[in-house]
Amino acid sequence: MTTAYVYDPLYLEHDQRQHPENKRRLEQVLKHLKKAGFLKRMKLVKARDASVDEISAVHHPGYIARLREIAEGGGGWWDADTYIGSQSYAAALRAAGGLLQAVDAVQNGKVDNALALVRPPGHHALPDRAMGFCLFNNVAIAARYALQQYDLDRVLIVDFDLHHGNGTQDVFYEEPRVLYFSTHQYPYYPGTGPWQETGRGAGQGYTVNVPLTAGTGDAGYQRVFDEILVPVAQRYQPELILASAGYDAHWMDPLGMMLLSVSGYARLARTLITLADELCAGRLVLTLEGGYNLEALALCIGATFSMLLGDDHVHDPLGPAPQEEQPVDSVIESVKRVHSLA
Ligand SMILES: [Zn+2]
Repeated sequence: MTTAYVYDPLYLEHDQRQHPENKRRLEQVLKHLKKAGFLKRMKLVKARDASVDEISAVHHPGYIARLREIAEGGGGWWDADTYIGSQSYAAALRAAGGLLQAVDAVQNGKVDNALALVRPPGHHALPDRAMGFCLFNNVAIAARYALQQYDLDRVLIVDFDLHHGNGTQDVFYEEPRVLYFSTHQYPYYPGTGPWQETGRGAGQGYTVNVPLTAGTGDAGYQRVFDEILVPVAQRYQPELILASAGYDAHWMDPLGMMLLSVSGYARLARTLITLADELCAGRLVLTLEGGYNLEALALCIGATFSMLLGDDHVHDPLGPAPQEEQPVDSVIESVKRVHSLA
């Protein structure tokens, strides 16, 4: 297997020291990947800047221009959660472009799969505004790019971040060529993503939300993947799988109340890899979203790369959550019913 990663030092230039989404996240990840010997086993895909045209496939031109102006003016806060620094516009263009490069590498068969280690993250960003630490919606831009550049008809986005990817859902809510699947703590920020939100118009049925109660852990997430994601994906037959890889559902994460472990995350990654092998010649591209406990984040990403590289086991010194996890039977039943899954 050839696995690629995307990284660019410009991703560190978007930074706010007191904010949980700061440059130390990626610094720690890179340090761990190097020390654990992952970097030399993988191919570095060089990032590029996404063009304004490519960004415009998702975002309104006025919003793109405004973001640029704010950055050029020295930066500021977009809202209470979301900062913009003088280099944030540049970093955001390169984050989106880095993911596009990963899509190209996988689609052109240069590598088997990839994980883009980009910042700022993207899945909360809406067409006309920043939100929840996100400036441009990287995964949505990548899905639009893949549809157009490679003439695809079906792209599956799997969002396993702690939070609901409201921005991604919004972009593709009426779009049958992109199936958006999300697991997320609910009710929780940003408030969207009940199982009743299933798409609209031509996109009806192509949004699959699995809202999970606080305290869901390894067993619950795995059941949701096995009993909902797998049959949904088999029915959809995607030509490419993209994933919003958020590691803030780890039990040590300071922002969430979920109980996934490093090993649990690795099994979810393994499920995605198996699905991609079965359905789309292994074509799988993940992009980093959240994850705010630096140690857990680095280990989770290492474990994900382990799975992408085909290793048999992962290193999980943090172990399983110390609490007992909550059942998922009722949400599985509701989601199965609303999406007509046996
Ligand atoms: Zn998140």
